[in-house]
Amino acid sequence: PKVTTATYLDKLNVEQRSAVVHGIDSATTTHIGAPLLVIAGAGSGKTSTLAHRVAHLIVNGVDPRRILLMSFSRRAAAEMIRRAERISVQAMGGKTGAMTDALTWAGTFHGIGARLLRDYAEQIGLDPAFTIHDREDSADLMNLVRHELGFSTTERRFPTKSTCLSIYSRCVNTELSLDDILPTTFPWCSSWEAELQHLFGAYVEAKQRQNVLDYDDLLLYWAQMVSEPALAEDIGGRFDHVLVDEYQDTNRLQSSILLALKPGGRGLTVVGDDAQSIYAFRGATVRNILDFPGAFSPAADIITLEQNYRSTTAILAAANGVIGLAKERFTKNLWSNRTTETLPQLVHVRDDADQARFIVERVLENREAGMTLKQQAVLFRTSHHSGALEVELTRRNIPFVKFGGLKFLDSAHIKDVIAVLRWAENPRDRVAGFRVMQLLPGVGPTSAAKVMDHMQGAADPIGALGDAPTPPRARSDWTHFIETIRTLRSRSAIWPGELELIRRWYEPHLDRMHDDASVRLADLIQLEQIASGYPSRERFLTELTLDPPDATSDQAGVPLLDEDYLNLSTIHSAKGQEFQSVFVLNVVDGCMPSDLGTGQSQEIEEERRLLYVAMTRAKDDLHLMIPQRFFVHGQAAYGDRHVYAARTRFIPNAIVHLFDMTNWPPAVAGPTNAKSIGPVPRIDLSARIRGMWRSGAQNV
Ligand code: ATP
Ligand code: MG
Repeated sequence: PKVTTATYLDKLNVEQRSAVVHGIDSATTTHIGAPLLVIAGAGSGKTSTLAHRVAHLIVNGVDPRRILLMSFSRRAAAEMIRRAERISVQAMGGKTGAMTDALTWAGTFHGIGARLLRDYAEQIGLDPAFTIHDREDSADLMNLVRHELGFSTTERRFPTKSTCLSIYSRCVNTELSLDDILPTTFPWCSSWEAELQHLFGAYVEAKQRQNVLDYDDLLLYWAQMVSEPALAEDIGGRFDHVLVDEYQDTNRLQSSILLALKPGGRGLTVVGDDAQSIYAFRGATVRNILDFPGAFSPAADIITLEQNYRSTTAILAAANGVIGLAKERFTKNLWSNRTTETLPQLVHVRDDADQARFIVERVLENREAGMTLKQQAVLFRTSHHSGALEVELTRRNIPFVKFGGLKFLDSAHIKDVIAVLRWAENPRDRVAGFRVMQLLPGVGPTSAAKVMDHMQGAADPIGALGDAPTPPRARSDWTHFIETIRTLRSRSAIWPGELELIRRWYEPHLDRMHDDASVRLADLIQLEQIASGYPSRERFLTELTLDPPDATSDQAGVPLLDEDYLNLSTIHSAKGQEFQSVFVLNVVDGCMPSDLGTGQSQEIEEERRLLYVAMTRAKDDLHLMIPQRFFVHGQAAYGDRHVYAARTRFIPNAIVHLFDMTNWPPAVAGPTNAKSIGPVPRIDLSARIRGMWRSGAQNV
């Protein structure tokens, strides 16, 4: 029997409940009528409502494999699956089986795109064995092409490889042309328009020749694929329901994909918050969510949610104060019934070091008062802002995990091993090949290039390795090298045994290249453990490249689930999450908003929303840190320097009354009596985190 007004929806408020069941025919569980947009403010239960909707569908008999669920990160998607599963298990009296496995089409746009592209590759003239380049690989390839074209000589001040990639990516994601993008977004590169045009053409050709796809291609090809009506129908027909969280951060390609999959909008549900749009710098456009209702006929139905269940009234008032001064009008009216006496705090400290000390003191106090470390988070604009804090945490033996900065994959040794695997998968991938070959002593870029050229023409590129022009010093290692690659190609090792095979080959090189080889070796073993969670080499490579585990993350190690650790995260990576206590670093002009932008007003507005996102992560306590002096690390053009800073312009005098002001340390400082974490033993994991952090920072 179908469950319609079941108890599992009891916890929801009226609007949430109507969003869960909206448009779903209770007899057939198909979506009838108009598509659905849930647009609502932070903490109003958008994600929770979406999870309930998924659960509702499953409980009522929809095949989970016919649900496409897209979220902004793999972590967020996994969390959604977990929640949906919990709800439906409860609803069905604890009887559901392996729903986690069944909701196979939950993930990021990029991850889902990659899987669909492999399924349909041949139909769109793509080789299904393509490899995926992460941003760094893409920048490397851009660099190779730049060199080949002779654009890279330093005296000509041609844009750097990463600037070139940003410009290219911007064109792709906004579907605008170079002469639209350059004057507005990269004005200092305008004089290079002709060269950039040429470069991008050559870059695209190089990708095709090598059968590699970059992140943007995954969306581009996907959009192209579904612009073919027959394919769109076929792919769209695989899913009865398509649901998207954080819709405000999608770009034009993503919205055109959704529209092509579900042209009438039937079965389509998107949720988001226009006030939290923070990815315009990557081509996302808040127009997507605003234009969503009108993209269909009849227009999409809109449900708004107004009660915030996350934050105290004081935190919400402060966050509303900040966003209320925005140029655009966000029409939401958020309220909370979690009243409190405690206002959020603006904490004035002298510098980075004091900022770190203050936070550590408070974190420990919270912990003594019974709040776990996991319930607390320190948020920052860019990854390197947490340097001083990491030092202080390490000194005081407080375990932490950093999200959104260095990724597990970023350390050199992990990249090496992955490159071997990738190259074995696709020997035409020049970036991978370059990296792998240069692991051999005596092989530098020039000889690597010669070998690659030699392979390029051959029908059997790996076969051609045997008589490749190798430098004399490399000869003794060459045979073993070729043997390893051939074994990998032939797949005589069973996944994930392939990684162990590579590790055994790589170990002597690791010893030769790194002093801390044993720490790195432990990481590689860790990598094998991670790999065993993936069904195949190809799935592992795809998902790891698209959304690598953080420097330490839940997936990265089994023990982590039970350990307590402090969350360190960029604001972007904290999207959708919540913590009892939140500290935001460097809430000063120059950092928020950053002085590295072009100073255009849209950019400033995006920074305001960023602060809003940070503040609305907090449930009970919020500290905004204001160092008088903060240290800016070397952006190429700026160098390292101290700057004197003032409270961010987003908190002008008019709204200062919504905060409490603190100066720290207090004017008359007593003897410092550093607390330590007491009964929590120092765990190995944090040593590993630090090891990873160190190795990554030095060697990437
Ligand atoms: P964000 O904009 O930050 O992504 P959101 O709108 O997705 O936020 P959720 O994360 O879904 O909000 O919910 C915020 C918090 O409120 C969660 O802890 C959730 O469990 C809780 N919550 C949501 N709805 C209700 C409800 N009806 N009753 C009690 N708690 C609720
Ligand atoms: Mg959410």
